Amino acid sequence: MLKIGAHMSTSKGYHRVPVETLGIGGNCFQIFPHSPSMWRAKLPEERKIELFKDAMIKTKLCSEDALVHSGYLINLASPKEEVRYKSIELLKLEITITEMLGLKYLNFHPGSHLGTGLETGIDRIARGIDEVLSSIGDTEVVLLLENVAPKGGNIGSRIEELKMIIKRTSYADRIGITYDTCHGFDSGYDIRSREMVEKLLAEIDHWLGLEKLKMIHLNDSKYPLGAAKDRHERIGDGYIGEEGFAAFLSSDEILKRPLILETPGGNEEHAQDIKRVKKILGIERDAND
Ligand code: MN
Ligand code: MN
Ligand code: ZN
Repeated sequence: MLKIGAHMSTSKGYHRVPVETLGIGGNCFQIFPHSPSMWRAKLPEERKIELFKDAMIKTKLCSEDALVHSGYLINLASPKEEVRYKSIELLKLEITITEMLGLKYLNFHPGSHLGTGLETGIDRIARGIDEVLSSIGDTEVVLLLENVAPKGGNIGSRIEELKMIIKRTSYADRIGITYDTCHGFDSGYDIRSREMVEKLLAEIDHWLGLEKLKMIHLNDSKYPLGAAKDRHERIGDGYIGEEGFAAFLSSDEILKRPLILETPGGNEEHAQDIKRVKKILGIERDAND
């Protein structure tokens, strides 16, 4: 069964997200565990957690198909000790929130070395992950490194960089990856033909093992291949285009994973984008019936 959904607002409460997900024709989703541009995060109240878990049961959504997206300020690769420290503390809090909500996957951007070099940056990230996971102790939460656009000293735009990070941590079995189609396209991974999709999957399999690929961020790109801009576009309206997504989504390996839209707009636009994906796939019925 197709797993598709979008990044959802939690402004009306976590418990609204599963219902609104069904409302847009989805069956999986992504949320922020706190305001993404702030260092501050608070643990959800007991009552709100219960409401959320009830909503998950009522809507029959699978907790393993949901994604929690880490805050944007987090940078484990930062050369500034204070930023690195705050990043570690916030990630720990985000893992705790993910666990309290009964969800499994926490997605985060590996970080930027801010001009201090790839090698040093990768080391800092691996060390940061080790500090986070050793101090958090036993948890069911799995961290997902997201491939990013190659700009601003970002680490993790290439699959082999994600591999280097994972290899250098002591917790390889508790880390997976999310593949973002816009960021990948920004980095020069062309997915507009079946052949190129197979090549990308072979690369992921070679460096990481395909089982490490847990989630897909399904975004079109406002800019051409390799532009390194990180500007998401509605599905089919960008340079990947409808035909490009038809090629990408012709792979069973891709379709096994939850497809999560981070395209411009809110629920209304996402509902249309989900329809468009279903049209590309030749599916008329809703994913949840
Ligand atoms: Mn992201
Ligand atoms: Mn993304
Ligand atoms: Zn992006």
